[in-house]
Amino acid sequence: MTSTIRSTFKSSKLKTRDRKYQGFSVQKLIAATKLTKLVYKILIRRTFTSPQKSQKKWVRDCDLEVVEDLSWGSIYLLPRLCTLNTMIRKFQFKFLHRHTATNSCLSKIGIMETALFYLCKTDKETLIHLSWKCSVTSNEKPLE
Ligand SMILES: [Zn+2]
Repeated sequence: MTSTIRSTFKSSKLKTRDRKYQGFSVQKLIAATKLTKLVYKILIRRTFTSPQKSQKKWVRDCDLEVVEDLSWGSIYLLPRLCTLNTMIRKFQFKFLHRHTATNSCLSKIGIMETALFYLCKTDKETLIHLSWKCSVTSNEKPLE
């Protein structure tokens, strides 16, 4: 596969203007020892978009409007630094991107009848309530 890509790039007569349009150096690709890794990085760089919607919701929900730079890059790297457990990393990724299914979300789309948190049954089950504001879960004995 990599030899095919390499030979295709070598055989093609790309002009300087074409290379600028592609956003990467063909010479760099040909010279790369780890071609697939480099191509993967280039493709990720091209398609990456910052999850603005979830970031705005975190800023709103946590009252962080006064903080100018939250360094979202560092925040998204935390799961990789904190644990090697892939399930915990997956949960943290979903939590940060607000892809965790709460009763509040499920009731909006008609899957759950109630949006209330099943433990306290007084407030809506949102990420903030579930994690920090619920009186029932905050009184729980910490893990040892
Ligand atoms: Zn609660």
